[in-house]
Amino acid sequence: MLETLRHIVHSVNTAPNLTAALQLIVEQVRDSIVCDVCSIYLTSEVSETSGVSEVNGMGKARDLGTIGGASHTNDAEYAQRANVLMASVGLSADAIGKVRLPLGTGLIGLVTERAEPLNLADALAHPSYQRIIETGETRFRGFLGVPIIQNRHVLGVLVVRQQAVRQFQESEVTFLFTLAAQLAGAITHAQTNGELSALTQGFTTGQLLLKGRAGNPGVGVGQGVVAYPHADLAAVPDRQIVDIEAESTRLRMAMQQVADELQGLKAGLQTNLATEEQALFDALILMLDADTLLDQTLTRIQQGAWAPAALRDTIREHAQVFEQMQDPYLRERAADIRDLGQRIFSHLQQDQPLNLDYPAQTVLVGEAISAMQLAEVPADRLVAVVSATGSSSSHVAILARAFGVPAVMGVADMPVTGMQGRTLIVDGHQGCVYVEPSPTVCAEYQQLQVQERALNSAMETMRGLPAESADGTPIALLLNIGLVNELSRPQQADAMGVGLYRTELPFMARDRFPSEDEQYLSYRRVLKTFAPRSVTLRTLDIGGDKPLPYFPLREQNPFLGWRGVRISLQHPEIFLTQIRAMLRASKGFNNLRIMLPMVTHISEVDELIRLMRRAHTELLDEGCTLPFPQIGVMIEVPSAVYQIGALAQRVDFISVGTNDLAQYLLAVDRNNPRVAELYDDLHPAVLLALQQIVAGAKQHHKPVSICGELAGNPLATPVLMGLGVDSLSMSAGSLLKVKWVMRRFRLAQAQALLDQAVQQESAAQVRQLLQTALDQHGLGELIVGRRFGKYRKP
Ligand code: PEP
Ligand code: MG
Repeated sequence: MLETLRHIVHSVNTAPNLTAALQLIVEQVRDSIVCDVCSIYLTSEVSETSGVSEVNGMGKARDLGTIGGASHTNDAEYAQRANVLMASVGLSADAIGKVRLPLGTGLIGLVTERAEPLNLADALAHPSYQRIIETGETRFRGFLGVPIIQNRHVLGVLVVRQQAVRQFQESEVTFLFTLAAQLAGAITHAQTNGELSALTQGFTTGQLLLKGRAGNPGVGVGQGVVAYPHADLAAVPDRQIVDIEAESTRLRMAMQQVADELQGLKAGLQTNLATEEQALFDALILMLDADTLLDQTLTRIQQGAWAPAALRDTIREHAQVFEQMQDPYLRERAADIRDLGQRIFSHLQQDQPLNLDYPAQTVLVGEAISAMQLAEVPADRLVAVVSATGSSSSHVAILARAFGVPAVMGVADMPVTGMQGRTLIVDGHQGCVYVEPSPTVCAEYQQLQVQERALNSAMETMRGLPAESADGTPIALLLNIGLVNELSRPQQADAMGVGLYRTELPFMARDRFPSEDEQYLSYRRVLKTFAPRSVTLRTLDIGGDKPLPYFPLREQNPFLGWRGVRISLQHPEIFLTQIRAMLRASKGFNNLRIMLPMVTHISEVDELIRLMRRAHTELLDEGCTLPFPQIGVMIEVPSAVYQIGALAQRVDFISVGTNDLAQYLLAVDRNNPRVAELYDDLHPAVLLALQQIVAGAKQHHKPVSICGELAGNPLATPVLMGLGVDSLSMSAGSLLKVKWVMRRFRLAQAQALLDQAVQQESAAQVRQLLQTALDQHGLGELIVGRRFGKYRKP
């Protein structure tokens, strides 16, 4: 079965389009299960009002959360949908694309409704059985239907039938089930390309709604630009070209260069290489000479694809052929083909600048956008960010916040490469993206943008006002910076200093570890910009989702592995260089504070303080007189919460990294879209931990700051005030909003709200409570997206 499955999956992956893929599946399934009929029905999502096809969890798709309950609120809409016969062997070919079974009818409808397989030896005896004349079906008795499900939504049904009575075996059920899961991905992909709506409906605009998670509120409208790792051929986005001749020449030249390169390599190694190894070079050179690669790629270019995408598809096809081979030696040759593709690709890139063309309204789209890719976009052209992975506390979302642009994260099923050049509306309130939106939707979002602009200018009135509660208790508002170069932003004037400078940037921007002097220059710039206000530099926090290209960390569980101070302790030379650079950079300003990330053991703090003192003494010995700076630890893991007293005794200040703290308390990877719904930094457990941290720190009279994303969320401001923290450190874009909320609440009100919040049982209840409190204080306006309901049906 496994081999058959692999074959079918391969056929699906190499099929030119969804129609062909579906037809291949039904044919191969019928052959392997040996039955009379195999068909695929897809649920067509027709809406008279908007004609929107939806992917990944929005309203009209059948939500498993509602299955079993009679109360779907949208019965009328539900009834409009139908299971459309999309492919079949055994039924009349004329019926394909025409037979539409309204949801709720027949056995196919029952599989959709229950979202479970239905295995009936004699379908005729079932009360839901309905004979469908148009398919030309005789009375088939054996019936096995499995739902095609993606992200808890039924996309269609894969069904096999037998004229005679037949109970399908358990292994056949699981076989279809596994296949249906594979098919779900292909269908979602086709939905995004608009292919599916064209197939099933034929009359809609193909507008599509992709669902992810809100990353940063706001609305951005623009054109998709795909950010992809420049070294990765497989990630190259689609792009159309007009000058076919020039593109073909480009390809020919790149291939010739690779052929020359291989000849050169072979000649150079001839004396040292065994004959078999030489044969490998010959095989690759032959492949380049044989014209198949060239011809197939040229054909794609002639159809309008740019050379890298044309090459990507040709190489994928060839590699897949090898991957399917029985012979393990030949199977491994797939890697050689990919390597060959990669070599041609790197030559293609050399004759073109790496910089992408950024339209005036750029929506940056990517699998996992890096800080560098985001920083490459001219700030005045970036209107939004859409990431296939991540959540609101991922670094991409944090960056979007720093840039003040909306972000949608964790759009798990977005076929990234197909988003290039598409018109997109990014709704960072609801966490969704419209691809090629209809004029009605565009008009509605324009209204929302007007509303947002009004709110932003209202917020400007907060500039220059003190950050304090309505009854005058000050809470310092600080900035989080460092992921990109954010020093020249106007918001910095309103901040009392920098509460978190992520020092990873100078490390990520190079192809090797930066020298002490290089680091010195970066740190001195920020210390100087903010002096005399304090600047908290965090020591290197790589690992987790922040790898360095030149320091590869391949781990099964990177967030539970080698990250933060764990690396510093095992590489004291990296740590000491950094500390020396920090100390030297502070000379004359004396506004430096140093903070240690990801502390889990008391001994780590002792050892790192010892190293810091050593660096300080060395500098003194070298004649560089400096005071020893204030030292703090980040509370980011549960062990540090429980040992807050011991930690507070050792340091000058405490800063809570709620992004990681929530991640480790809730055991949810903050970048994994599959579990993103479970990640919530307003979970009551996080608030209880915060209470414990503040109480422990205060016992030792140490100030507490919060520097995770929670600090910049205006919804959370009252509870954080209630906690009695001394400062909140956030992205620049959040500063005025938080100040606005802070100035409306009296301290006693904030404390009472916190008392209520920690008694809630879920994050949703906490959010509801806080939302109501903001409304009561006339701050409901702040949550702009919520008022969106006025304009669009939620
Ligand atoms: C945090 O974890 O809350 C934090 C501020 O650090 P980072 O987001 O850089 O991991
Ligand atoms: Mg952290």
